[in-house]
Amino acid sequence: MEFYSSQINSLVEQLSKLPGIGAKSAQRLAFHILNMPEDQVAGLASAITSAKRNVRYCKECYTYTDNELCPVCSSPKRNHRQIMVVENPRDLAAYEKTGKYEGVYHVLHGAVSPMAGIGPQDIRLDELMVRLQGDIDEVIVATNKNLEGDTTATYISKLIKPLGIRVSRIASGVPAGGDLEYIDEVTLYKALEGRTDM
Ligand code: ZN
Repeated sequence: MEFYSSQINSLVEQLSKLPGIGAKSAQRLAFHILNMPEDQVAGLASAITSAKRNVRYCKECYTYTDNELCPVCSSPKRNHRQIMVVENPRDLAAYEKTGKYEGVYHVLHGAVSPMAGIGPQDIRLDELMVRLQGDIDEVIVATNKNLEGDTTATYISKLIKPLGIRVSRIASGVPAGGDLEYIDEVTLYKALEGRTDM
């Protein structure tokens, strides 16, 4: 049944493809957009297209950036000999919000999950190993505290230990099964401080 014109339907359809947006929310957003002043709509549309066009992976840590290097990797104030391995850029942002971590990061863009058919070759592990050929003191594995995150951590530790580089795992202050990005800053910092060697 067609209640709306085809252009409205198409807007609703595009919005409903976004994660967490069901048919009702898509409809609500579509009408919200239609009620916005034209310059705001243009601003939204151009922010989406220019982010998509210009944002790329940092060539060191593989987080998203619009420069060759992200702000963390390009900062001389950071300890470039300490690398924290996280699953995604949202986890990096969570640790940055603590304001307490002074090292750099490596973003895997996923975790090993045999159930989902995601193997070590599907995440940015090779890129991590290349970085470890430089002068590195410690790799802190801060993957999520769930089956996939733990599997990934064990795998990484087995790869790195023979290199003689310290490998540690964030402490279990992070609740089991917890996604890092939803955990408050104090808990994240405690998990980092209480990390143990693997
Ligand atoms: Zn970077």
